[in-house]
Amino acid sequence: MGHGYMGKMLWVDLSKRKITEEPIDEKTMRNFLGGYGLGARVLFSRQKGGVDPLGPEATLGFVTGILTGTDALGGSRYVVVGKSPLTGGWGDANSGGNFGPYLKFAGYDAVFFTGIADKPVYLLIDNGKAELKDASNLWGKDTFETQDILRAAHGKDLEVACVGPSGEKKCLIAAVMNNKGRAAGRSGLGAVMGSKNLKAVAVRGNMKIPVADEKKSAEMRKRHLASMGPRVSFMRDFGTSGLFSMSCESDDAPCKNWAGTAVVDFTTYKKLSGEEVLKKRQRGWGCWHCPVACGGIMKPNASGEFTYSEEAHKPEYETLAMFGSNLLNDDLDSIIKLNDICNRYGLDTISAGAVIAFVLECYENGILTKKDTDGLEMKWGNAKAIVAMTEKLAKREGFGNIIADGVKKAAERIGKGSEKYAMHIAGQEVPAHDPRGGIMFAIGYGASPTPGRHTQGGEGPFPPGALPDFDRMSLKGRGKPHMVGVALTQVYNAAGVCMIVIGDAYGHFDHLIEALQTITGWDLTRDELIKTGIRIETMRQAFNVREGLTSPWKFPDRMLGIPPKQVGPRKGITLNPDELFTEYYQVIGWDPKTGKPSKQTLLELGLDDVAKALYK
Ligand code: SF4
Repeated sequence: MGHGYMGKMLWVDLSKRKITEEPIDEKTMRNFLGGYGLGARVLFSRQKGGVDPLGPEATLGFVTGILTGTDALGGSRYVVVGKSPLTGGWGDANSGGNFGPYLKFAGYDAVFFTGIADKPVYLLIDNGKAELKDASNLWGKDTFETQDILRAAHGKDLEVACVGPSGEKKCLIAAVMNNKGRAAGRSGLGAVMGSKNLKAVAVRGNMKIPVADEKKSAEMRKRHLASMGPRVSFMRDFGTSGLFSMSCESDDAPCKNWAGTAVVDFTTYKKLSGEEVLKKRQRGWGCWHCPVACGGIMKPNASGEFTYSEEAHKPEYETLAMFGSNLLNDDLDSIIKLNDICNRYGLDTISAGAVIAFVLECYENGILTKKDTDGLEMKWGNAKAIVAMTEKLAKREGFGNIIADGVKKAAERIGKGSEKYAMHIAGQEVPAHDPRGGIMFAIGYGASPTPGRHTQGGEGPFPPGALPDFDRMSLKGRGKPHMVGVALTQVYNAAGVCMIVIGDAYGHFDHLIEALQTITGWDLTRDELIKTGIRIETMRQAFNVREGLTSPWKFPDRMLGIPPKQVGPRKGITLNPDELFTEYYQVIGWDPKTGKPSKQTLLELGLDDVAKALYK
């Protein structure tokens, strides 16, 4: 076995209540680096195409990366993987906090669940010993209560990933939560966990992760810490909330369900600025051993319209934008409350904000009335109604039941032409970065195996030295740099390193390569890592192809600039999908019309079995 990982994964058949342990071989780890790389490799081999994502044949995985829990800066991440019930294709969701490192310290790189338990259970992994336990006392509890009850039962050093009531009720926009404020939010995998009657995975351990050269690794961490850039202190104070005002000013932030322009239609955006958020912060908070610590805990708010406790986490940029500018809601307390509701019930804040925006626009256009919305006046900026409706959504209560599965399903249920207000790409609600004028996001939203995602790379957030030079204002010549960016993004995502740390703490991209070399002991090169990243991306794409899905994904007209905006920094922009994706797909070796990786590409990446499966 190599270094950087524990060399073992657990398989839990919930229907049969059977737990088995399997080794992970070094070649697989070097080829996929853990995280969603390993997850995609395993699910392609072990899960048939076409299974119901909420059925017993679906597999749900919790997978750490090869740098998770090590001396690499930002090595706090784990990924939840499975077939997405939102898109019908590959699903993954990345989270920080402490859970990932402690899953490794408990002895395992990954745990995969199949089947459905006949009654609610949780998995307890205690220093290499795994057992399924009765979760009937946890069912119906929110994610904060779940963690507290489990810690009271097993000790304060327990780390818990769980679903709240939204996941239990299979809301398709449900998240898996850990540390009361860290969410594996995207792809609807909280619903998959709930469908398995799996309330929580609880881990504890103090095993050592084998490292190739411990002394060198400790020295490296010290050196990397000393070379962190000046943006670290900005992120430590504000986190991504510090980006909100400038995103409104550049028209990156969504406004009025993507139909508006913040500097014109939401001129009070500074009420949600990083400075305003910081005034309400009680203290900073960070994921495991993170030198940035971009999170925060808010001062409790016991009076007024929107109360929250001393445990409420700081809203991040995506949450401020999706529940703020996107809804013309400038009430910061309401957004802290909305963030807290989503954290407690276990909901993806991006999707939840997008669903509420859809409701507000339907209401404005008479498709929905007060009669439909349980008496709530769903007007732009009506913070009270927005909070009340989000709570209904989280509980699947009344009209909340209609919208609890995301905008695509909500539009199908409501009909009456409402689909034109449903801002999703292939079923996944679009995150808070406008593709009109943000070419990296545009390519990523449409070309990635996980549609509508802002964390799948391209040209950011890399420190110097990562990418070849290119003209950021042009589409021509973009395919190659975008592919290198995507590949390197796959590397750090799979390896378990936080993207904010990549952008704001690592002084040079070579530091990440050095961390991989030092911890694994492998003679890795940048070229090998680029190939590894392409392999991971192609593996995830192959999963979609086997499900019968084709890409590039279709955008709502509004997101392409059809018609173009008439005002603001992005006025006049219309994107042409053919121009956006063709060059990139050609460079990565996928068919520009269908997204199917060519046989030659698959063979060059060593994915012979995948080539055989896709080219029968
Ligand atoms: S930068 Fe923020 S999100 Fe990333 S690991 Fe650190 S605390 Fe967590």
